Amino acid sequence: MKALDELTFDNRFARLGDAFSTHVLPEPLDEPRLVVASDAALALLDLDPAVAQTPVFAELFSGHKLWEEAEPRAMVYSGHQFGGYSPQLGDGRGLLLGEVYNAAGEHWDLHLKGAGMTPYSRMGDGRAVLRSSIREFLASEALHALGIPSSRALCVIGSSTPVWREKQERGAMVLRLAPSHIRFGHFEYFYYTKKTEQQAQLAEHVLNLHYPECREQPEPYLAMFREIVERNAEMIAKWQAYGFCHGVMNTDNMSILGITFDFGPFAFLDDFDAHFICNHSDHEGRYSFSNQVPIGQWNLSALAQALTPFISVDALKEALGLYLPLYQAHYLDLMRRRLGLTTAEEEDQKLVERLLALMQNSGVDYTLFFRRLGDESATLAVARLRDDFVDMAGFDAWADLYKARVARDGEYSEEQRRVRMHAVNPLYILRNYLAQNAIAAAEAGDYSEVRRLHEVLTKPFEEQAGMEQYAQRPPDWGKHLEISCSS
Ligand code: AMP
Ligand code: MG
Repeated sequence: MKALDELTFDNRFARLGDAFSTHVLPEPLDEPRLVVASDAALALLDLDPAVAQTPVFAELFSGHKLWEEAEPRAMVYSGHQFGGYSPQLGDGRGLLLGEVYNAAGEHWDLHLKGAGMTPYSRMGDGRAVLRSSIREFLASEALHALGIPSSRALCVIGSSTPVWREKQERGAMVLRLAPSHIRFGHFEYFYYTKKTEQQAQLAEHVLNLHYPECREQPEPYLAMFREIVERNAEMIAKWQAYGFCHGVMNTDNMSILGITFDFGPFAFLDDFDAHFICNHSDHEGRYSFSNQVPIGQWNLSALAQALTPFISVDALKEALGLYLPLYQAHYLDLMRRRLGLTTAEEEDQKLVERLLALMQNSGVDYTLFFRRLGDESATLAVARLRDDFVDMAGFDAWADLYKARVARDGEYSEEQRRVRMHAVNPLYILRNYLAQNAIAAAEAGDYSEVRRLHEVLTKPFEEQAGMEQYAQRPPDWGKHLEISCSS
């Protein structure tokens, strides 16, 4: 275990030079205070959980103090936002403080979000508010606990600094961890500005640091792109299987590592709704829940375009062709497991599709349906669940197919079925209304609810004593929350 001043830095991205990022110092927040920290994320840096309670911790992650070896940089990138190209984005309010490596030799980017203005702030103030910082913190740690690849969050530091959004709020910073903060938009930036040399430098950097195994392949860049396609297919399959809606799948928010990245107006589905739009500025539903699948491919095509200097168009097209079949395979595999099936049959896809069609417009809670399905034998479970469906006859027909399918799958005791299904069907997810409750308390100065909710979400599959209130459907007020897109 290390003390805070014992972190070891190796700032490889900063060393790429000024064409890639600009040196900027964080702008401190007033009266910094710890809102919440993640023990699991602290462990990634070999830090003892106790360090989060020291005053210097809040100072380090609110811009008051900096390690000597840190080299805070604002990165430049661009990207396609809602389908249109924005030629220059970049870290407008976040800074890459440096790269830290742990005892296991893993490198982690320390990225401080809400750290003040940078050359890429455009019209923004460089700040993040407490509300959005808490949401990013809870979401990254919750996704990770669900087994969905995501950037991580070390802590949220609150402050008394006023920040103006629709109303006056308080500034906060969230410390994000990821093996890299390079986005699709980094490649697009160097491609569209025709900075060929730097683009090659970037490609080498990503290949060497993050896809070293692709070096062994005859065409290393192509192998790397294929790997990125595969990781995205898998990540999005997990989003769809668990009902996660990202909300702002612009290419500047897509990680080169295939991890969930940049949290804004995201939401987990409460009631199942394939057409759910969590981002209220997304008037056309470009990033609706079901559109995440084709948009994943669209984003990969945008990356492919930026890689044309290195890879032939035919090879890129072929690699892009892997996306949908891989997505389908991962998704079906996850959904089979969510249904408690251990074998694969041709008709399983239809079984899943029929179930979702019945759920649509029925007001069925997506998370609790699967959890309850595993509570008892298939026969007893479906008998109890049918009341939730508007089309009960339709559900009965589905239930007959399902029971027959379960019977063909094998012989299990109720207990075996429960253990297996509960291990993949969470009881607790980050529902918008739960986040909202925790945020309201935090805005009033009470951080206990954020901490408790975070704790519960670190073990989403385990029933936790006294935590029933976190496993409930939203109350009426919490069903259609408008989550502000300003963050
Ligand atoms: P986002 O929608 O959060 O992914 O951000 C899109 C772009 O706007 C990125 O370049 C951000 O750095 C920038 N941005 C968002 N909010 C702010 C802000 N308050 N101040 C400065 N830049 C911002
Ligand atoms: Mg972003």
